[in-house]
Amino acid sequence: MTAATHVLVALASVGLERNLTGMSPSLCSLPLIVLGSLAPDIDNQGAIVRWGRWLQPWVGKRIARAIEAPLLALSGVVRSVFGHRGFLHTPIFCALLFAVGITLEYEWLIHFAWGYATHIAADCCTVSGVPLLGPFTKGRVSILPIRTGSVGELVAVGAVLTVFAITTWRSVLL
Ligand SMILES: [Zn+2]
Repeated sequence: MTAATHVLVALASVGLERNLTGMSPSLCSLPLIVLGSLAPDIDNQGAIVRWGRWLQPWVGKRIARAIEAPLLALSGVVRSVFGHRGFLHTPIFCALLFAVGITLEYEWLIHFAWGYATHIAADCCTVSGVPLLGPFTKGRVSILPIRTGSVGELVAVGAVLTVFAITTWRSVLL
């Protein structure tokens, strides 16, 4: 899925997070959820690594690239260790984030993990799938044949936003 889709799905799921965890969204939690929704793609030099580009109109190409350089290097290391859609795209890694957040009572980490979970769920709906049972098996599971950047992705995002708006956002707004 594209970065925009991951962000939209994560933000749309805030009502569900509230219903399941009892934690109300706040202006502080939303950036953490967004960050978590983009974090898994650090293994593929995704948008989370390339945020210097958003600054490029104001700081210029050279400075934007300098900002990105450390993250690109980190991303390269992560990819070489875990591979794209490897361990960092597994539910067990996401569960570890939740477990640490709950154990240490780090609310910020729980919000981050929530966004992270939405990323894995969304990627599971693509043709490439995710290793749902990783690291125990390398086989990827795909529950929908959506191609990243396709019309199918737009339709799926629209459907997800509609379902969340009807079912869970009411509890956030009221
Ligand atoms: Zn991903």
